[in-house]
Amino acid sequence: MSVSKSSLLPKTLRQHYLSLPQGKKCQVTYVWIDGSGEGLRNKTRTLEEEPKGVADIPEWNFDGSSTDQAEGSNSDMFLIPVCMFRDPFTLDPNKLVMCEVLKYNRKPAETNHRHKCNQVMERVKDEHPWFGMEQEYTLLGINGHPYGWPENGFPGPQGPYYCGVGSNCAYGRDIVECHYKACLYAGVKICGTNAEVMPSQWEFQVGPSEGIDMGDHLWMARFLLHRVCEDFGVVASLDPKPMKGNWNGAGCHTNVSTEAMRGEGGLQHIENAIEKLSKRHKEHIFVYDPHGGKDNWRRLTGRHETSSIEEFSAGVANRGSSIRIPRQVGQDKCGYFEDRRPAANCDPYAVTGAIARTCFLDQTENDEEA
Ligand code: ADP
Ligand code: MN
Ligand code: MN
Ligand code: MN
Repeated sequence: MSVSKSSLLPKTLRQHYLSLPQGKKCQVTYVWIDGSGEGLRNKTRTLEEEPKGVADIPEWNFDGSSTDQAEGSNSDMFLIPVCMFRDPFTLDPNKLVMCEVLKYNRKPAETNHRHKCNQVMERVKDEHPWFGMEQEYTLLGINGHPYGWPENGFPGPQGPYYCGVGSNCAYGRDIVECHYKACLYAGVKICGTNAEVMPSQWEFQVGPSEGIDMGDHLWMARFLLHRVCEDFGVVASLDPKPMKGNWNGAGCHTNVSTEAMRGEGGLQHIENAIEKLSKRHKEHIFVYDPHGGKDNWRRLTGRHETSSIEEFSAGVANRGSSIRIPRQVGQDKCGYFEDRRPAANCDPYAVTGAIARTCFLDQTENDEEA
């Protein structure tokens, strides 16, 4: 069996209940990052009426001892709503809200990287930094094996799958199409999708998004992905190298620009930023996956369209380098650059925060915030 039992419940019955009127009341689902720094949790409450914006959604709390975020003796954690979306599952007027997590003393939880990221983004806001992230992921059956792969073996070698079409090339497209629509309905700034090089591996892109919006939207896009996969009974894995051997890993390429880079003569600004990144390679590798580079170590081998984790490199149209300047950008002499190092399971708040700090603030992670 490769799909979950829950996905086999009679789904047409569900429609009857979902279409029952709910009066003026509004369901709001709070979404937050758990103690692993990768997992998402959520819970729902009723508000008396539809919130017009995130400011109308009250703070809430949860039991941090059950999410690896607190000791049992002092386990209440605060949920601070930060970004509101429409709920594509229960539909209008219901909402999903991305939250920051604070500890009992109202200091940010260990895996709350948004707090620092937001401080950096505030300080660089005059540069109008835009980010676009390419989220790669792998569909797994409930048995943990890539979805659609033979139970005891492998599909044909990589080649026909990237942007492929047809039953022998595209594994699980339903998920991709439903997730795309769910993001558009929710208000997540999704800008595209494609099938990846390894069968049952896919990508969607979010952006360009300014400042802190990048992290908010990508995390909500991930929540929607896991939730859509739940309906279909499969699992979306963000492991950066789900299959050993001659199979591509999964990254989260991060595209970056400022107003100056986007305008005439922008290439010089791009090159300046790359020069700064070249001096902080190790530091960036440390924040580009949730385990300080250990996850990415399996992926950044210098093969399968990656650079080596050991060395920094940059080049125009070079998919084997840490930083790639897209060919079009090289021709136009302005635009954006792509940091290809972040792993699929990176925290976008940590990644965009580190890039903004290095390129636009000349600071390291440990420098005191002004
Ligand atoms: P690739 O050729 O690397 O596969 P994709 O088309 O998958 O590129 O993704 C391109 C990403 O770049 C998207 O997330 C998009 O939002 C982002 N992007 C486009 N223009 C800019 C820009 N000026 N600044 C930052 N990001 C940008
Ligand atoms: Mn891409
Ligand atoms: Mn890709
Ligand atoms: Mn890319």
